[in-house]
Amino acid sequence: MDKKDVFQQVQKQMEDKRQRAETKAQLALDFACKNKDFALLESERRSLVFDMGKNLFLGKPVDKMQSRMEEIASQQALLLEQMALSPDDLVPQYSCKVCNDKGFVDGKKCKCFVQATNKILSDNSNLCDTNLSLDSVVAKNSTQQDVVDVFKKYLSALPKVPKCNVFVTGGTGTGKTHLVTCLANDLLKQNYSVLFTSSFNLNNLFLQIHLAPAYQKNALFANLLSTDVLVIDDLGSENKYNNVTEEYLCNLLSERMAGKKYTFITSNLGKQIQDVYGDRIYSRIFSQKTLLINMPGKDLRVERN
Ligand SMILES: [Zn+2]
Repeated sequence: MDKKDVFQQVQKQMEDKRQRAETKAQLALDFACKNKDFALLESERRSLVFDMGKNLFLGKPVDKMQSRMEEIASQQALLLEQMALSPDDLVPQYSCKVCNDKGFVDGKKCKCFVQATNKILSDNSNLCDTNLSLDSVVAKNSTQQDVVDVFKKYLSALPKVPKCNVFVTGGTGTGKTHLVTCLANDLLKQNYSVLFTSSFNLNNLFLQIHLAPAYQKNALFANLLSTDVLVIDDLGSENKYNNVTEEYLCNLLSERMAGKKYTFITSNLGKQIQDVYGDRIYSRIFSQKTLLINMPGKDLRVERN
């Protein structure tokens, strides 16, 4: 899904919530108005509200009306109590008191809207820990710190970066997956939709798409294309399937580049990508549109032991 789908989904969620609260209040009022005394008070209250509005507009006093309103309210409250209801039951109980579940205040997104969006985005991201961030990285060496700096610069230039791909190569334990995950998390926090996948799982999905009936292929592929950010972790670790892995990966990279979507890849392979995946994939990864990062160095996990 892309951002637009998510916004629509949140808008629909809020509309449903608002309608539920309003219907519940209306049903309680309908029930209370079955009591004749209550109904009479209610109709008096409504005309008072109207008259008070008129007087306020004309600058006339409303004191008497005000006190009659208070009397009505307490009489209604007593009647409601007999019906096992409270005055609150007649008022829509919105879950967000700031925007009354409209999602917007003064034309701006309400906090509840942003939170609901973030929840959908992180639920769909497949990221294992959505609290990670480049700011929380404690670099274990200067290479890691350099990469953090480059990523922060990249992040601050979004969405006007000329390179929509990021390719990080380096040995096991250099921390490349962690750093790319932090970068993806920071994009998630800026409301980009993110999909994290291991190369192994991606390859299995390619096979599934390949074997699926024609009418299902596009739907299965759509999610990989539409996400704003796709992270492919550990490219080269999968067992390649003939006529599948290269074809689908090449398609995926091309279409995402054409759609100006961000694709982040980590791999133990550097230029050996060419030997393993051939020229077409190599030229897409090692292109002008890719931010290439090499993380040489010893295996940090071994170093610590
Ligand atoms: Zn709100």
